[in-house]
Order: sequence, then structure tokens, then C-alpha cells
Amino acid sequence: MQKLTWQRIVLKVGSALIAPEQDGCRSRYLLSIAQFIVRCRARGIEVILVSSGSVAAGAHLFPTDKPRTVTMKKAMAAAGQTEMMAMWDRFFDFPSAQILLTHGDLRDRERYESIRETTFTLLENGVLPIINENDTVTTDDLKVGDNDNLSAMVAAAADADALIIFSDVKGLYDKNPNLHDDAILLPEIKSIDESVYAMAGCATSAVGTGGMKTKIEAAEKATSHGIATYIANGFEDETFSKLLDGENPGTIFTPYEKPMQEAVHWMTHTANEQGEVVVDGTFDESEEGETGCIRGDEIMEVHGEFAVGDTILVRNEDGTRLAKATANYSSCLLNFIADNEQSEFSEKMQGSIGPIISEKDIALLEKS
Ligand code: GLU
Repeated sequence: MQKLTWQRIVLKVGSALIAPEQDGCRSRYLLSIAQFIVRCRARGIEVILVSSGSVAAGAHLFPTDKPRTVTMKKAMAAAGQTEMMAMWDRFFDFPSAQILLTHGDLRDRERYESIRETTFTLLENGVLPIINENDTVTTDDLKVGDNDNLSAMVAAAADADALIIFSDVKGLYDKNPNLHDDAILLPEIKSIDESVYAMAGCATSAVGTGGMKTKIEAAEKATSHGIATYIANGFEDETFSKLLDGENPGTIFTPYEKPMQEAVHWMTHTANEQGEVVVDGTFDESEEGETGCIRGDEIMEVHGEFAVGDTILVRNEDGTRLAKATANYSSCLLNFIADNEQSEFSEKMQGSIGPIISEKDIALLEKS
């Protein structure tokens, strides 16, 4: 038996565990999870819960003969969220707090910092943060879309030691266990590549939005930040006793040995680019070994509208995605420079402006 060394963990609980019949919350599976949370906290482990299930919990409050439009689902989420929070709250002697987020909140650096600070303050004061996507206000552009990826972003923001995704399967199998009797459970994944995604196939549960693919994406996000990620069966009691005994109940994705720095991780996995700059050349290392910068005279094209401080994608002419970075100049100014390359004024500008992206916030992507 291994000693648990976690200080802070994020648990992701899917809709199928909250509202298995899609007609309101049921305590059937949640009792074991609640007990696990209580036990972790009793051992001094800080717990953050990412709970799906608002749509499934609220569905029974709306007519079943009407089409399930996006608007209807948002209404179900708004009503079901209250029911779900009330359900969780009933299990605990300690207070819990609701945090509703969108991708729009997480990719804005100021709001992201605010989310972090609030979460840490709740934890310091013994309050259990319960997080879900704010489905009411999301649009295609603003949503994360699934709570597997959301839980990984939360785990990275909270500097968690482990992310545990409770699923309706034991873990990752070499092929879909629902279709193949001889599918083998893979207890440990050391690095996530295309072959891992291929094995994940598209096993989806009937109630939640995430399948195995989004769980692998979440594992990729979390492990690159140094966070061990588990996929485990939330329907089996044995899962929780094993976790408390320091055993692996399903699949563990081992964290990167050299995790990304927090700001670079945020830029790579959470921030969305607001625009794109096509440059002539590559990203060279400076003499000091730091990542080189892009100068004004290297800009070929500017796409999208962005302001100083926004995240942009830098790519070269053959389409290679070189980096995500913070823009030091607006798209308006960079467009002017790129469009008037030959003019005398523009040449002067090219020479006089500093690096177009901030050297301290560069996340390198593909090598050219
Ligand atoms: N936010 C959705 C809900 O609470 C769940 C999204 C998901 O299942 O991944 O119903």
C-alpha cells in the first residue's frame, strides 16, 4: 500500500453519475463519491469538484414532448444546477461553493487569475469548490463544451497534484470494451500520442457529452502541467477504496517529467488565439538561449483583429504553427506595416518597433 502524497486534487463527476435516469439527481452513486471527498479532506487533501449533470438533473422539470433545443437545454441547466448543488450540499458538514465558468472566462488572463484566487481562498477556508460550465451564457465561441477538458483546465489553474475523472468505464482499453470482449485495460499511459487517441475510439456514454476522446484530451492537458490523471469507474465502490489506499483503480496517465510553466501551459491549452501573424522565417534561439522574437520586417500577413496583450498564433508561410504568444502590437498596426511594406514610412516603422510578441510569454508549438 502506497502513501497518498496528494495535497490538492480535482475530481470530475459526469452526468451519468449525477442523474442516471435523466429525471433529476439521484444519490445512488454520489454517496460513495461524497464519502471519498470527506475521507480525502480528513487526510488534509484539498478537493475541488467539477460536477456535470445540470442538464440531466433539470430535464425532468420541462415538457418531454417539446424539442430539446439549445435554449431548452440551457434552461434545464439553469434549473438543474440548483438541484444538483442542493444535492451535493446535503452530503457534507462543511460548506460548498458554486463556481460557474466559461471558456471565455478562462482564456481571459485577468478573469483566469480571479478564478484562481477565489478557488484558493475557498480552499484555505475549508469550503469545497464545486465547478461546472456556465451553460446559460455560453455560445459556440465561449464554451469549453465538455467537462473533461474543463476539469483539466481547472486542475492546471489550481496547480493540483492529481485529476481523477470518474467515468462509466474502468479506464482506457486497447479497443472499445463495449464492442470487444477481449479488450484489455491499460493501467498506465506514459505518453499520449495518436495511437492513444486511436485506442480511445469514440466510446460515449448515453447521458454525458464527453466520450473517451475528451478524457484523453483532458489527460494531455493535465499531464503536461505535471498533474497525474486517472480515469476510473465512478460506479464501483472499489474505485474509491483503491484510490485511498494509493492504488490505481483504472488507468493512470503519468505526468510530464518537465511540466510546462503555468503561463505557457495556459497559453497552449486554455487561451484561444484572437488572430494570426504569418512570418517569414523561423523561431530562432537567441544567443542567451532564450526563445527568439519576431521583428516587424518579418511579418508577411496579419489575420483577425487583436489588441495589445491578446494571444495570437504565429505561423510561417507553409502553415507550420510556430508559437502562441502575447501580442505586443495591435492587428491594426501590424496590418499597416505588412500592407505598406515598400513605403518609406513603413520601413521606418519596421525598424523602430520592438519585438511583435512578448518574449516572456511564448508557447512554442511545432518545429518548422
Ligand atoms: N455542463 C454540462 C452539464 O452540467 C455537462 C457537460 C459534460 O457533461 O461534459 O450538464
